[in-house]
Amino acid sequence: MKSIQWRLVFIYLTLVLIVMISSGTFILWQIQHHEYSKINNELSDMADMIKNAIISEDGSIQSGWKDLSWFWDGSFGNKKIYILDSEGNIVIGEGDQEQWNTRVVYQAIVNKEPSMGNPILILERGYAREYIDYAYPLVLPNNQVQYIIYIRASAQEIAENIAKITNIILVASIWALCITMIFGFYFAKTLTGPIKILTAKAKEMAEGYLDHKIEVKSSDEIGQLTRSFNHMAEELSQMILAMSSEKNKLETVITHMADGILAFDRKGMLIHANPAAYEMLRTSGEEKYFYDIFKSAGIELHFNDFLKMKPNSIKQHIMMIGDKYINGCFAVYGREKGEAEGVILVLQDVTEQKELEEMRKEFVANVSHELRTPLTTVKSYTETLLDGALEEKELAVSFLQVINHEADRMTALVQDLLELSRLDNKQVKFNIRTVNLAQLVAESVQQHQIHALKKHQTMKFHSNVEEIFVSVDPDRIHQVLSNVISNAIKYSPEEARIDVYISQDEEWVRVGVKDTGIGIPQKDLTRIFERFYRVDKARSREMGGTGLGLAIAKEIMEHHKGRIWAKSEQGKGTTIILEFCK
Ligand code: ADP
Repeated sequence: MKSIQWRLVFIYLTLVLIVMISSGTFILWQIQHHEYSKINNELSDMADMIKNAIISEDGSIQSGWKDLSWFWDGSFGNKKIYILDSEGNIVIGEGDQEQWNTRVVYQAIVNKEPSMGNPILILERGYAREYIDYAYPLVLPNNQVQYIIYIRASAQEIAENIAKITNIILVASIWALCITMIFGFYFAKTLTGPIKILTAKAKEMAEGYLDHKIEVKSSDEIGQLTRSFNHMAEELSQMILAMSSEKNKLETVITHMADGILAFDRKGMLIHANPAAYEMLRTSGEEKYFYDIFKSAGIELHFNDFLKMKPNSIKQHIMMIGDKYINGCFAVYGREKGEAEGVILVLQDVTEQKELEEMRKEFVANVSHELRTPLTTVKSYTETLLDGALEEKELAVSFLQVINHEADRMTALVQDLLELSRLDNKQVKFNIRTVNLAQLVAESVQQHQIHALKKHQTMKFHSNVEEIFVSVDPDRIHQVLSNVISNAIKYSPEEARIDVYISQDEEWVRVGVKDTGIGIPQKDLTRIFERFYRVDKARSREMGGTGLGLAIAKEIMEHHKGRIWAKSEQGKGTTIILEFCK
């Protein structure tokens, strides 16, 4: 009986059954009691009458009482009368004494009081009939029981009446049960109907349909429950909406984050990973377990080492994946319940920092190295002079020239370093103007013509047009052009040819400085723009180069949103190209 409706019907039926049984039993008992007391009175009256026929007023036995044969043989309806002696033997009357209620007789003799027995069933001609026995002792003045009047009365009518009433009560009970069942079913339905609707809606809500409202039909407890349910559904739907929007936000952030994020459950299975993580680990996403993911990236890590970590602690691990330095931060999550639920890993590409660090170290080493050589020279020449070389004038002059040359080199180096540092720190103010670049290049070529002539080199400027206007800082661009032209002169032998040309297309204005000099090996072509990078250190130093000229030129060109690059064939010559955005 799972439904409340049938349970209620069952309760109604049980109640009605209890009421019917108890009230029916009570009614039957009352009727029976009434009938028996009526028969008792009748029997007692009859016994009194017989007693008066036997005992005279003075208490003595009347003589000749036995002769009243009309009396004894007379009809007394459904009653039979017997007179017994004090031993219980029949004195008057005929009958089967074995079927008598001897207990009634015995009680009357002992108690010397009338006694009525319980109804007994006697089989007569195949029918069971009910009788009641009554014994009345005739007590003489000497307190001796002389005779007993024994009356046997038929109680069949009472029994039949009681059976009829029992039947009526039974039929009434069945009717009552049927009616209760029908009405009970409908009453229960009115109660359980709204509960059923509520249950169905609750099921729908559990499946996620939170916008289905339940109609409130009453203001009773069920109505209140329905109202609370609707309110709860509304709150829940708003909460879920807020949560899913938060989740979406978070997912968008995680997906588009530059850092890689991976989450593993406590078995080391991947639960979540963003595209950056896949890219950094260089996996296609086919591997699903911690060990496999890192193994495919060429790194051996043990998941359990991280799972055993203390709460709120982070383990850092720098990994080299391909040509990238990846910093991994490992942390456990879900420690509240005692055991870690898994591990979260944040990956950061620290290649740039690493390279910058390396570059900084290299830069400091380079500066120290560049300064140490001229300083050593100055120191040793000065000491030699102090040790007596001063006396020999010619030697002293040549020594001092060396010292002067080294001092110039150091000054040039420090100046270039300062220039670079100012460019790095954006301290250089660019005075951008629209200038005729063709003229600017022509002037620069002109200025360096003398140095080229000294080396018997032929330097020519070629331009189809006289005017090409660009927005630049003319002083800075002149600095770049000077550096590139002087390099062409420096790194080209005597009699070499230097061609400077200017051209333009829709996007760019290009200036090329082409020489027929020593050239640059292919592998060094991009590196010559790095700080202190020189193809041939000794030769560069010899020629007074600092190794910073092209680095400064590159910085200046980048500040103009321009480009500088080189093409070269070793032994044949180099072309340095400057490109200006139009
Ligand atoms: P430096 O002061 O040594 O000239 P730069 O930065 O100007 O420094 O140049 C860097 C290096 O590039 C030089 O040391 C040289 O090896 C190479 N280089 C630059 N220009 C030329 C060129 N025209 N021909 C050959 N090598 C060149």
